[in-house]
Amino acid sequence: MDIAVIGSNMVDLISYIDEMPKEGETLEAPSFEIGCGGKGANQAVAAAKMGSKVMMLTKVGDDLFADNTIRNLESYGIDTEFTNKIPGASSGVAPIFVDPQSRNRILIIKGANQYLLPEDIDQAADKLKKCSLIILQLEIPLQAIYRAIDFGNEHNIPVVLNPAPASRELDFDYVCKCDFFIPNETELEILTDMPVETDQQVRDAALTLIEKGVKNVIVTLGSRGVMWVTNERVDMISAHRVAAIDTTGAGDSFIGCFAHFYVQTGDIFHSIRMATGFAALSVTKRGTQSSYPDKSELESFMA
Ligand code: ATP
Repeated sequence: MDIAVIGSNMVDLISYIDEMPKEGETLEAPSFEIGCGGKGANQAVAAAKMGSKVMMLTKVGDDLFADNTIRNLESYGIDTEFTNKIPGASSGVAPIFVDPQSRNRILIIKGANQYLLPEDIDQAADKLKKCSLIILQLEIPLQAIYRAIDFGNEHNIPVVLNPAPASRELDFDYVCKCDFFIPNETELEILTDMPVETDQQVRDAALTLIEKGVKNVIVTLGSRGVMWVTNERVDMISAHRVAAIDTTGAGDSFIGCFAHFYVQTGDIFHSIRMATGFAALSVTKRGTQSSYPDKSELESFMA
């Protein structure tokens, strides 16, 4: 096993609407799509598409979405031995309403994702120990995240923490125990209470985390690219110029691809460069997981 993703899965229920119904009103909408998402699952799929052997520790509900989610993960070759059903719970779902101007309104119902607990990490210990990297996000209970970070530290497995969605409750001592902390600019702003409008401000905010003990801060900045900050260097890696049509899941694609190349090469700068290419390709297509390129597409884009 190369990578363990310990995190969320969600089913995106996407309604393309002409207008939002008012209270008590029923309207017809032109179309509907179901998509597989959730930050954890997206990151697992991105790494698997690059060729990593990925296991996903996640919880699904006791409903018609569960088998679909498991089948979807397995279709990318992801190991689902620890993708378990929670009796009586709903799967995590995200009803999304997209208007003709492509504006989103999104609800997140975490469902079974709330039942991923610290003991689940210990139950999967034998398999987790064989992984070269652990990836975490914040769509599961914080106690499970803390246990996973400790587990990584106990077994010398590097940990990537993507603090999304941003939470002020995140215990900073645990952030410092991670090898890679990968926020986007909004998450960095919320976590540091500092402005992040200019590159200088992003750098200053990231450096406060480094001063507190974080080893690598990698800030994703949308079409501006990525800033990698350590206590020795600050690098700005520009985004590729592409015709972006849908940036949903770009951050997740970056993290999954970064993890793949880091496990394969140990070269952080190279891994960031490859991940910016992967994320750039992902924004040129509609959808989340379905927009992620495969290995050959990335290779020809980066050649
Ligand atoms: P999301 O929440 O939609 O997954 P995010 O806010 O976490 O996204 P971003 O910082 O928007 O993540 O994007 C991640 C990376 O994707 C960026 O650092 C960049 O490399 C790439 N990217 C995003 N938008 C664009 C774009 N318009 N053009 C090229 N690359 C992009």
